[in-house]
Amino acid sequence: MDFKSILGENCKTGELLKKHTTFKVGGECDYFLTPVTEEELSLCMDIIKRGNLKYYIFGKGSNILADDKGYDGVIISTVGLNNSITHEGNIIEAGAGVGLDKISDYAMENSLTGFEFACGIPGSLGGAIVMNAGAYGGEMSNVLMEVKVLCPDGSIKWKVVSELDLGYRKSNILANNEIVLAAKLKLVYGNRDEIRAQIEDLNNRRSEKQPLEYPSAGSTFKRPEGYFAGKLIDDAGLRGFRLGGAAVSQKHCGFVINYDNASSDDIKKLIEHIKREVDEKFGVKLECEVRMI
Ligand SMILES: Cc1cc2nc3c(=O)[nH]c(=O)nc-3n(C[C@H](O)[C@H](O)[C@H](O)COP(=O)(O)OP(=O)(O)OC[C@H]3O[C@@H](n4cnc5c(N)ncnc54)[C@H](O)[C@@H]3O)c2cc1C
Repeated sequence: MDFKSILGENCKTGELLKKHTTFKVGGECDYFLTPVTEEELSLCMDIIKRGNLKYYIFGKGSNILADDKGYDGVIISTVGLNNSITHEGNIIEAGAGVGLDKISDYAMENSLTGFEFACGIPGSLGGAIVMNAGAYGGEMSNVLMEVKVLCPDGSIKWKVVSELDLGYRKSNILANNEIVLAAKLKLVYGNRDEIRAQIEDLNNRRSEKQPLEYPSAGSTFKRPEGYFAGKLIDDAGLRGFRLGGAAVSQKHCGFVINYDNASSDDIKKLIEHIKREVDEKFGVKLECEVRMI
């Protein structure tokens, strides 16, 4: 059995990763697989393990900087995986590939509150769990109940949230070589109009403050304890600073943006420059939130 016989059209070779990252950079990978069922994913993982192939999991690619040199291995996109949302009472169950915007709309339609914080985060549920994504005072750990994962031994398990070691923009899922398949979110009954107003307000705040008109991966750096990365970068005199096609956003200094056909190298060099300047000026070591492959 090979990838093509399992996935048909959903197995591509030589696919450009720039088509699958919000930074809009990234060269070709050997295989780009988009399984839509758990069985397809398990069969693909068997081939990967038997062949000892290099692989990397993609959600919506909104927190990934892929190298222009490409990836000499298999990319598994989870955006098509278990693409459904259901609910029973105040518990929503959704597949790993479902977008956070869809889940927040679904929650709103069903008068469930608690997920509004995630409405403008352009990721998938799987990626948001791995990153413990958060915004405006909320984060995934506040609403997650259980997560269904494919384990490296091929078994499928539901894990309770305390098993995921969730912290600021981190979990133990990647270190455990697990793949998120689906999750249950525990929300609270609320008023649909109030939830809708909250979503609108947060989306407006995002488009006012963030450079959504440019490709990026959101906040490039984690929040250093006691500081804000954007403020440090601004105070270091780097607002609008450009390196090749990459730039520090004028609108929000915490965002490195693909200003004008940036290469992955432009972005990486700019990130290193920012880190160096902030360290030299303020003695603060910025840590990248964006995952590089
Ligand atoms: C404009 C913009 C605004 C943003 N705002 C925010 C914000 O407010 N808050 C915030 O926290 N983030 C924000 N982000 C970053 C990003 O959207 C989040 O980190 C998001 O959760 C990533 O989800 P994704 O599906 O795109 O994951 P990806 O970027 O595809 O992957 C992220 C990591 O998760 C892993 N992964 C993805 N899916 C799975 C899976 N199913 N199983 C196992 N591993 C998986 C990948 O290997 C990778 O290590 C923003 C990004 C952009 C571009």
